[in-house]
Amino acid sequence: MSEPKTAPDAEALKPNNFLRAIIERDLEQGYGGERRFGAGPGDAPHHAAGPLDPARLRTRFPPEPNGYLHIGHAKSICLNFGLARDYGGECHLRFDDTNPEKEEQEYVDAIQEMVAWLGWSWQAPAAHGERSNLYYASNYFDVMYRAAEYLIEQGLAYVDEQTPEEMRANRGDFSTPGTNSPFRDRSPAEHLARFREMRDGVHPDGAMVLRAKIDMASPNINMRDPALYRIRRATHHNTGDKWCIYPMYTFAHPIEDALERITHSICTLEFEDQRPFYDWLLEHLAQGGLVARPLPHQYEFGRLNLSYVVTSKRKLRQLVEEGHVNGWDDPRMPTLVGMRRRGYTPESIRAMVESTGVTKQNAWIDYSVLDGCLRADLEGKAARAMAVIDPVKLKLSNFAEIFGSLDHREPCSAPAHPHLPELGQRAFSLGPELWIEREDFMEVPSKGYHRLYPGNKARLKAGYVIECTGCEKNEAGEITAVLATLVPDTKSGTPGADAVKVKGVITWVAVHEAVQAELRLYDRLFTEAQPDAGGRDFLEVINPASKRVVTGYLEPSLAAAPADVKVQFERHGYFVADRVDHRSDKPVFNKITGLRDGWGK
Ligand code: ATP
Ligand code: MG
Repeated sequence: MSEPKTAPDAEALKPNNFLRAIIERDLEQGYGGERRFGAGPGDAPHHAAGPLDPARLRTRFPPEPNGYLHIGHAKSICLNFGLARDYGGECHLRFDDTNPEKEEQEYVDAIQEMVAWLGWSWQAPAAHGERSNLYYASNYFDVMYRAAEYLIEQGLAYVDEQTPEEMRANRGDFSTPGTNSPFRDRSPAEHLARFREMRDGVHPDGAMVLRAKIDMASPNINMRDPALYRIRRATHHNTGDKWCIYPMYTFAHPIEDALERITHSICTLEFEDQRPFYDWLLEHLAQGGLVARPLPHQYEFGRLNLSYVVTSKRKLRQLVEEGHVNGWDDPRMPTLVGMRRRGYTPESIRAMVESTGVTKQNAWIDYSVLDGCLRADLEGKAARAMAVIDPVKLKLSNFAEIFGSLDHREPCSAPAHPHLPELGQRAFSLGPELWIEREDFMEVPSKGYHRLYPGNKARLKAGYVIECTGCEKNEAGEITAVLATLVPDTKSGTPGADAVKVKGVITWVAVHEAVQAELRLYDRLFTEAQPDAGGRDFLEVINPASKRVVTGYLEPSLAAAPADVKVQFERHGYFVADRVDHRSDKPVFNKITGLRDGWGK
């Protein structure tokens, strides 16, 4: 009798995620106050007038719409939306569009498309009431401006007219405290007047900034009177030319979180030193009755780095703009649009992100982890097909003898998927000429080679056993065709199939029905696992062979393959019909990944 199986300990299998412990504690203890939510973002009075928040927690994904999302963002997306889903909360999609210069509608649209593609929704659950949690930080400019005036009135902010050079020099460094600005001790009324002049366009760009008045001697340089507002005449994609002053990220972000009633503001580790300012600012604004309590809290986690990949929008833009790749959605790019086009599934990306946990370290994840998740996903659902990538012709010299005519087409079939009978059978046929892989023939076999060489027998997969008789060559001595004879009565699936034992099986496509296709064979974009580590110029380690385009032959079942369909080409790996260029009369397939891990080798 077999031992009763013990269920694996689900807790022990859960990847490490320290944020769950924090959230569970907060849910258990309450948040230190009543959380009311005024059905949308707003200041303290707005929320005070609302009902108790139906969401048990609120998280947000706050991209700046200045580029396309990459695999690192997927980590943040799955984390924030996943925690909201798991604990009965809501996750907001917020465009952090406070910087007018680099932001565009194109990116806003692409970001929404990719968050949805990954499987997430910013729509509040029906039980919480109909609401779309899609927000724009630029809609809060008025409140941010009010908050700035409030700080000035309280003596907590001032307009600094030092030059940028003076400001930098007076900031000090890790070993030297900073020096107070000579403008710091003017009266609040003077600062308020100056700030309004900044807003009203009286002063040129860069002439002065609004700064918080905290402590120029703080050991945390972020607390040495950080800048809150700058003058910048630029047209904003949402607010147009209404403003010529724009809030700095450090000032804007905490306010955005508070207005949206975020409970857990999750960001990457580099923001850890900014947390004291986050808390300083919101505490003062709450005291002034501008933002609602309980206040949001910031938590930092280690960013995701994937080997052989760079995850910085700036560097990705450089790859695109300098033409190292063909656009943001080039299948070699670690952008989500690129990965989708390459054939990665949302399921595989979510599984990779989930399995790597959430920690306080900036970890490097091996690319093979992502590929493993992809294979695990596609293995169970991608249909199989035969494809010849490096073709050479095989001529069956006794075809007419056996079937009575060279025009005969011998029907063959194979399951679309070995474990999914519901996907049915693929039909194809045998003729006198086939395409096979060039590597499936050797004039002089190496040791242990079981495929075609003169005198050896091998099986055509889902077809017949054949015996190799030789080859044809051109004047240059190159092999132009492989010659073989069919062994009668050995068709797969017939009683005679096992009569002749062979060690080698080869894949093939009949010439008469082969679908010619463009195959784009991709490899890693960089030759080094950490392309930009240690300040190295990542452009120097671009893999010159990251893309190879060949013409291959596919079995006829793929003639009508729709764009984006994923298939396992037997022996070769997983391929996807390219979502941009694939046409049924001109098929284009991208290689997603091989059948085995090729990253470690
Ligand atoms: P980049 O450095 O590529 O420009 P970013 O952080 O400036 O990225 P944002 O649009 O501001 O880009 O990012 C939105 C969110 O995604 C932020 O909360 C950020 O912390 C998170 N994020 C960005 N990159 C990663 C990463 N590699 N791992 C985890 N989270 C990330
Ligand atoms: Mg950023």
